[in-house]
Amino acid sequence: MIGRGANMKKVIWIIGTGAACVVYSFLVGVIAIAGQIITSIRTHSEIQSVNQDFLNPIMAVGWAVLIILSIWMHKRWNAKCHACKRWNALKLLKTEVLKQEKISVLVELKQRNLNREVTGTQDQYIPGKRKTYQDTYQCKYCGNLEICTHTEDSTSI
Ligand SMILES: [Zn+2]
Repeated sequence: MIGRGANMKKVIWIIGTGAACVVYSFLVGVIAIAGQIITSIRTHSEIQSVNQDFLNPIMAVGWAVLIILSIWMHKRWNAKCHACKRWNALKLLKTEVLKQEKISVLVELKQRNLNREVTGTQDQYIPGKRKTYQDTYQCKYCGNLEICTHTEDSTSI
């Protein structure tokens, strides 16, 4: 079931990605400093300050790669089979609408004066629909079926 668990996953994922970026920056920094110390020993010169023009592109490219990798891993992780624990195992078999409810959705309407300037906001309930979907996934390795439900709200506006 999607719910609290999915939120926890997201939090862990974001923290993990952030941590990976920090560790990467740290490693690049350490390597850069080590490189400078070695260079200064070899050339018997003073240790020069870190060349930011050289370091910044390396940092940026590294972060981009890490984030792309992280999104890819997250996709694989999301499709993890809980029976055989393999990643990227679940394939969507079918999606069914379980139920449809009429709901009231709270929206914030902007109040404007004659000059079309926003003077304030007003909360108002408008009719909408809440659809509950049931997704059935099947593991491509062990055939285990997993069911997730999710809801989607839509308004008539
Ligand atoms: Zn499986």
